[in-house]
Amino acid sequence: MTDISVLSDLSAATLPRQAMFVDGTWIDGVDTPLPHLHPATSETVFEAPTATAATVADAVAAARRAFDEGPWPGMPARERAHALRRIADLMHADADNLNTLLSLDNSTPSSFVGFYQMGAHYPADLFDVYAGWTDKITGETYPSWEEGQPFTYTTREPVGVVGLITPWNAPMSLLAQKVAPALAAGCTVVVKPSELAPLTSLRIAELIAEADLPPGVFNMVTGGGDVGSALVEDPRVDKVSFTGSRAVGGAIASSVGRRIGRVSLELGGKSPAVVFDDADLGMAVGIAAGNAFLGLSGQVCVCQSRILVQRGAYDEVVDSLSGFAAMASFGSPFDPAVTSAPMISRPHMDRVLAHIDGAVASGATVVAGGGRVTDGPSAGNFVQPTILADVDGSMEVVREEVFGPVLTVQPFDDEAEAIALANDSLYGLAAAVYTRDVGRALRVSKSLRAGNVGVNTWTLQPHAPFGGVKQSGLGSENGREGILEYLDTKTTFLHG
Ligand code: NAD
Repeated sequence: MTDISVLSDLSAATLPRQAMFVDGTWIDGVDTPLPHLHPATSETVFEAPTATAATVADAVAAARRAFDEGPWPGMPARERAHALRRIADLMHADADNLNTLLSLDNSTPSSFVGFYQMGAHYPADLFDVYAGWTDKITGETYPSWEEGQPFTYTTREPVGVVGLITPWNAPMSLLAQKVAPALAAGCTVVVKPSELAPLTSLRIAELIAEADLPPGVFNMVTGGGDVGSALVEDPRVDKVSFTGSRAVGGAIASSVGRRIGRVSLELGGKSPAVVFDDADLGMAVGIAAGNAFLGLSGQVCVCQSRILVQRGAYDEVVDSLSGFAAMASFGSPFDPAVTSAPMISRPHMDRVLAHIDGAVASGATVVAGGGRVTDGPSAGNFVQPTILADVDGSMEVVREEVFGPVLTVQPFDDEAEAIALANDSLYGLAAAVYTRDVGRALRVSKSLRAGNVGVNTWTLQPHAPFGGVKQSGLGSENGREGILEYLDTKTTFLHG
């Protein structure tokens, strides 16, 4: 056991102010500070304010006024595009600092922030991509149906005030996937980032504040679930877009549904990697183990956590996964030799360990890992990369999202069995198929019930839609579908 500190890295970063942004103004120190404990060291690295119900109400009122009285929703597309491009430029310019803050937020290893989807350039690009959508929000015309009608046409109108609630694991990207399209559509927003990763979100709020949007268009309140709940329950919020756990997503959908509000949900997953024996096994294992054991240590919604392997390749894949598990190293995220993040909090680490223990009690065999990291930093929430064999679909560890460095491995004999195992899940977020046979790749990817399917890959891109089916969510982010989430269709009938 060793002791480490991130306090010297903290002093090297430009920290955001400890304040919330409401109606174009920073509200300093009015609410109870919430300590942010670094997950690798348990040191307090920041204290974010906790919004009171009154602050949330003020933020919603500001967004409501900015929407109802303008000018943002009716602003010429070119001007909204310029504003979004200013935000993108400010984020690109601050990328190194944002990446440092990310490692202070959730201990993403600094050796990983260079991966496009993990660092600051991907969320910055989202503002740029959606700047380009502001002038492509178009409707349709319909020919005359009755005498005296020249034609009928549709326009797309912004849905109004939106409440945006984000999790801690990819705080910059998931915030940008909501804020950029919502602003591009002409909506006004109140953002509630995760209390477990406040630094990057508040820094992005500072950059957005520098972009000089009209007051009330962009607001950010901080705090925990009760702050999110106050936002969700405010009847002046027309739509809630939420990314987080299935349990909280279900509660939000019920609450917003009661007032027939609009809701989009990006929830958890239990995604299968279907590995055929003709695949490039090194690639398949690299992608699955890379997501599960390195970087955020499996705390990734799209983690391919159920490895389904054709029987002929089973032993080789299990050996190779074990090799990856042995490569993981733990410590400060600022140590370039460190590969793998700790669990975000002590309660979350305990949940992950309980999943492993529960699996073993139900008959699973531990091939690698199986407990806490014993030779790493003593105050960190580090869990060993864990591989579980001899599992089946009745076990909770196969059915439920663990959100940690835990892979289950199951053999299959043929395509039909692989598809049946893969689809035997409540979730449907991000499946993958690994094979060199093009026909099989097309057949299997079509049969997988998931919002995203990787064929010999996994990725996420700003211009292409991303979302889940079944209990993994409702709606999409990114690309054209991402902006449609923030637009309603209005039909205008003409006569005379
Ligand atoms: P979480 O559901 O605990 O919290 C998410 C956010 O909701 C936080 O900001 C939290 O403060 C807020 N919240 C909590 N209770 C609330 C309530 N009652 N009302 C309103 N807001 C409330 O999730 P988490 O632990 O932060 O994130 C992990 C989960 O997110 C995993 O399940 C993961 O799969 C999922 N996730 C999904 C995607 C995706 O795109 N599908 C991406 C990343 C993470």
